[in-house]
Amino acid sequence: MGPRRGGTVGRHRVAIVTGAAQGIGAEAARRLAREGHAVAVLDLDEHSCADTVADIVDKGGMATAVAADVADAEAVERAVTRVADELGPPVVLVNNAGVTRDALLHKMTEVDWDTVIGVHMRGAFLMSRAAQAHMTRAGWGRIVNISSVSALGLRGQANYSAAKAGLQGLTKTLAIELGPFGVTVNAVAPGFIATEMTRRTAERVGVPWEDYVDRAAAAIPVRRVGEPADVAAVVAFLASEDAGFVAGQVIYVAGGPKG
Ligand code: NAP
Repeated sequence: MGPRRGGTVGRHRVAIVTGAAQGIGAEAARRLAREGHAVAVLDLDEHSCADTVADIVDKGGMATAVAADVADAEAVERAVTRVADELGPPVVLVNNAGVTRDALLHKMTEVDWDTVIGVHMRGAFLMSRAAQAHMTRAGWGRIVNISSVSALGLRGQANYSAAKAGLQGLTKTLAIELGPFGVTVNAVAPGFIATEMTRRTAERVGVPWEDYVDRAAAAIPVRRVGEPADVAAVVAFLASEDAGFVAGQVIYVAGGPKG
């Protein structure tokens, strides 16, 4: 029997988006909800997810807030089980949760390194491992990992660029392992996207936000910085039925070949 449609509550397919309280994750959650998914809005703190959930529900969508640290194996298992019980088996997973702890190598602490590798790589590994059980059982699934142009190397981001490059390797291997079960795995690698993460970086380097954005835009071929919706659109495509023959790919969403 070939792949079949699975993981539905009524007509809804169930999606989990990590780090969905704000930024790219929140927009991906809203977009997937608009396209008919029931969405588990997962972040460290359940209350921080309230706005994203309310946005979705106000527009007639279905969403629930779930608290979990994606780097904590027990919390991840509990969260994915809860989603399966409350919404139905999750068949779409967007591994978006992220942090930065930028420093030049000689100043980077072990905590900086472990925190960033832990959230991005261990987090994506744990979430994917927990969710794939539901996807393979359904015979249909989509995992989208949020990488970054930093995977190609960026000064001051040894930890983050290693994690984002590592996610690309994870993506390709999971695509090979899970493809036979109807599950595709792809990555989106954004360039500069205007979110709290980039605002915090501007603050840290002491450049006013507008100047920071202008300088970034000048170096991007399409001459603007990205918005969360630019990334969410590609996530939604990769999560769709239409993307069923796209697997193990990294799509740069950076206004040019790279950021
Ligand atoms: P953001 O606004 O900082 O949002 C990230 C979210 O992830 C926050 O709500 C954060 O919660 C949550 N989070 C952090 N650690 C977590 C954990 N252990 N478990 C669960 N949730 C956790 O960042 P963003 O710009 O939207 O970035 C989203 C993703 O895109 C990240 O993976 C980032 O690396 C990637 N990305 C961003 C850009 C960009 O230019 N913005 C470019 C390329 C890639 P707290 O706020 O409580 O920490």
